Amino acid sequence: MRVYVAGNITVDETWSIADIPQKGSSIHGNKVSQDIGGKGANQAIILSRCGIDTRLIAATGNDSNGSWIREQIIKESLTLLPSQPVYRHSDTSIILNSADGDNAIMTTTAAADAFHLEAIEPLLADARAGDILLQQGNFSLEKTRALFRLAKARGLTTVFNPSPVNPDFAQLWPLVDIAVVNESEAGQLQPQGIATLVITQGAAGAWLIRQGQRQFCPATGASVLDTTGAGDTFLAVMLASALLRGVAPDALALTHASQAAAITVSRRGTLSAFPRCAELAALLGTRGESVII
Ligand code: ATP
Repeated sequence: MRVYVAGNITVDETWSIADIPQKGSSIHGNKVSQDIGGKGANQAIILSRCGIDTRLIAATGNDSNGSWIREQIIKESLTLLPSQPVYRHSDTSIILNSADGDNAIMTTTAAADAFHLEAIEPLLADARAGDILLQQGNFSLEKTRALFRLAKARGLTTVFNPSPVNPDFAQLWPLVDIAVVNESEAGQLQPQGIATLVITQGAAGAWLIRQGQRQFCPATGASVLDTTGAGDTFLAVMLASALLRGVAPDALALTHASQAAAITVSRRGTLSAFPRCAELAALLGTRGESVII
């Protein structure tokens, strides 16, 4: 069984500045860090760190950022497809952190947009019934729908995390087997008719809604430093926990997910904050009791 993650991969540059710039201003800033980001990449990396055979289908550009991404991703145990760049700049997020703790984020989608369906479909050629297709909200409605249709026709299980949200994504629910949404996405997209629905509620926890039953999983207590990537960690570990046990996402999968997300929120950054392989192996090896990591 394999998970195909079709989505985006970015270079995340974090800059510290005195204040968010006004129109027409010129300011000084310090580049604090550079990390791999993008919801597709985040979720694929964590799945692979859980020991899941993972293919990340995401475009990198033909620029120095693209070379850097491809060099970094080799350190993870997943396969990035295609291995060749698209003829665009790599997608980049510039994260501006001001001294008063506020932030502003600017993200490009040129590489993801230039990654056409005709180029993506052959990368799913070896997908088999029982494999998983996981998508987020970084592709257009049409591309996301076409990939889910292809997956359903081949007998794959479809998983959707519609973030960033597009109101038209509500049309896709009939194609989705497992949905993971936060409260705001749930409010906007009104998910319905989905076999497994998970609604996350930040520091409060998450609901699992399945076969007419609702179960609540509280968040795991953490000394919170930075909540970036909590949702990606939660989704990937929930899915991995269920897949490794050969079951649909259940209460234990949500408990494992919540424990892993607590690790992520207790560290700064994105990729650098994610739980490492040994940490994930330790918590996935339990029946939900807390582990000292
Ligand atoms: P993101 O900020 O990554 O986009 P999201 O909005 O998709 O996240 P959230 O609902 O914020 O998702 O969080 C997902 C899960 O992460 C929660 O259900 C919870 O288990 C965990 N989590 C989030 N924030 C905290 C926190 N402050 N303390 C502990 N756990 C947290």
